[in-house]
Amino acid sequence: MTELSTLNIMYLPGVGPKRADLLKHELRIISYEDLIYYFPYKYVDRSRIFTISEVRPGMQHIQLKGRVNSLRTIGEGRGKRMVANFTDGTGNVELVWFKGLKFVKSNINGDFVYIVFGKPSVFNGIINIVHPEMDRFNESKSLIQQGLQAHYNTSEKMKSNFLNSKAIHKLVYNLFQSYKGKIPETLPAYIIEKYRLTILNDALRIIHFPRDNQSLEKARFRLIFEELFYIQLNILRLKNQRTFSIKGHTFTKVGGYLNQFYSQHLPFELTGAQKRVIREMRHDMGTGRQMNRLLQGDVGSGKTLVALMVMLIALDNDFQACLMAPTEILATQHFETIAAQVEALGVNVALLTGSTKKSERVRIDEQLRSGELQILIGTHALIEDTVVFNRLGLVVIDEQHRFGVQQRARLWKKNLNPPHVLVMTATPIPRTLAMTVYGDLEVSVIDELPPGRKPIQTMHYFHNRRNQLNRFLREEIEKGRQVYVVYPLIEESEKMDFKNLSEGYEYMQGAFPECKVVMVHGRMKPSEKDEAMHVFASGEAQIMVATTVIEVGVNVPNASVMIIESAERFGLSQLHQLRGRVGRGAEQSYCILMTSFKLAEETRKRMEIMTRTNDGFEIAEADMKMRGPGDLEGTQQSGLPFDLKISNLTRDSRILQMGRQVAEEVLEKDPLLEKAENQILNRQLTKLARAKINWGMIS
Ligand code: ADP
Ligand code: MG
Repeated sequence: MTELSTLNIMYLPGVGPKRADLLKHELRIISYEDLIYYFPYKYVDRSRIFTISEVRPGMQHIQLKGRVNSLRTIGEGRGKRMVANFTDGTGNVELVWFKGLKFVKSNINGDFVYIVFGKPSVFNGIINIVHPEMDRFNESKSLIQQGLQAHYNTSEKMKSNFLNSKAIHKLVYNLFQSYKGKIPETLPAYIIEKYRLTILNDALRIIHFPRDNQSLEKARFRLIFEELFYIQLNILRLKNQRTFSIKGHTFTKVGGYLNQFYSQHLPFELTGAQKRVIREMRHDMGTGRQMNRLLQGDVGSGKTLVALMVMLIALDNDFQACLMAPTEILATQHFETIAAQVEALGVNVALLTGSTKKSERVRIDEQLRSGELQILIGTHALIEDTVVFNRLGLVVIDEQHRFGVQQRARLWKKNLNPPHVLVMTATPIPRTLAMTVYGDLEVSVIDELPPGRKPIQTMHYFHNRRNQLNRFLREEIEKGRQVYVVYPLIEESEKMDFKNLSEGYEYMQGAFPECKVVMVHGRMKPSEKDEAMHVFASGEAQIMVATTVIEVGVNVPNASVMIIESAERFGLSQLHQLRGRVGRGAEQSYCILMTSFKLAEETRKRMEIMTRTNDGFEIAEADMKMRGPGDLEGTQQSGLPFDLKISNLTRDSRILQMGRQVAEEVLEKDPLLEKAENQILNRQLTKLARAKINWGMIS
């Protein structure tokens, strides 16, 4: 039988070159298979036909069956429209068109019985339906009168070329008409049996042409399950391969560095959560397996100290360690903190970023190769192939939500045996998403803030309260506190944003002549950025006006006020990250969200959530619900291994759990998928990966 993926959509009856081109560029549909996997986004119940006498204004979409009595054009210019009088013997309604008049005129007449579908409303006391869907009754029988009708997303461009939802539905119909064979199964028979899943052939037909809700639900379940199952299988298989084929460094010694640091140089008592996660990691690194762990902890929970202590364990076992941060500012700050903390231990630490001087770079390279340099801190410059370690035992990646499975893999090549990897993130990601994006990692959570922190108070102000805001700021500054003012700066509107930022800077200088104000943004030279950061961190400047370059990690405990300008332009996770820059000391801290007066409903909700809660996990869940996981920060780049066609990680979290559990069961019995009955799984994984790569290259 011909493989559906090799049949070109162009040759499907009803397509042709022009439509094929549209389908390809607008929907990525190239083959028969692509079309079959282009799933409806909703269904409309068309099982019932109403009589006109039953119709009331305010009803949702309904279906009527009847004839057109008369058709006339009325009005002029923009008000010009076509009105049909439509009847079924129980009453009359008007059908109204403002667009496509020519088409209506030549296609709609009194000779046929029509099924009309649309939402009734009232105009001049008469019930009407604007731009109804119309089908001739006989011809529509097969497709339309199915009860549940599938609706497909299309683009404006497609619609203007008559390739609307209905047209797509018809193409799918043609496809199933012309393809009589059974669509080959993609799951092993034993899984289908055990979980009583609808077979693929039936599921695909039902998803496009459901007969009733019950079988549709079963079909959807099967397809969602399959999608999520394969994602989990892929991740868990990778993890298995690693466990079986890779030997990790065994850190058995607990030696001088850690002990000495712990007993003599620890700046404060560790929180219970910090102690627990350090224990978890020590255990990992002692087993002889390679550690791959994700450390989640809300902003300010003290991840840096954990990282340092874990690095000291590596040093105690005569290995080198490195710490990678996403920005130069953050790398520099880590370097300063850590260098100061380990100075008394005599640990050799260096900083490597894009702006490290040549001579320093040469020194670092030499000392890395000789093993003299023990801890290297830097930006992604660290993963370049030119950076060669003598005995790299541990890599810590901080705040790196843009680090996918593939990039992590690059780090392993840094030593004959791959180093242990610790990924630290403060972007709290919902459990389901973590399972998917970081599903190959073990997870540790710091769920406790250091003692004595007062919860940050968040307020939402409209721009017209600026005088009041300034009075408040002055009070705080007089108490000795410092203030951040953050402006959005995005590429698309960079010029305008930059202007706002510089004006904001000048405004603050004017409004607070007694204060020193500094500015930090991405266009500055690294040395200028460092200088400004330093002036602020040292307390010499009271106000810092900045872009989101300070979003991650920056730590100035005396800064207690965060003002976010045009807060409506930030997403929830980003607002939470920014807010996390304050509340790091013992003082009461404040976050003030400034917006204009007119706000979209969704924006208002975001502000409401921010002022209500400081809980990063709650915010992440809300963010995911509002934006959908596809848009969530980090998921795009870190990337799901395959594109999601039908599932939604928020909505389908239960099926996701089940997919993971089934994948675990499969791999438990057959860790490397070698059994004959599992070959179908291997084939499918390869196929899915290839599809993703192909699209990655095209788009
Ligand atoms: P994050 O988890 O956001 O990276 P940091 O590591 O920057 O947090 O820590 C935030 C602040 O809390 C720092 O000033 C740090 O010195 C302090 N801190 C960390 N651990 C503790 C602790 N156990 N007790 C008190 N303060 C701590
Ligand atoms: Mg941090």
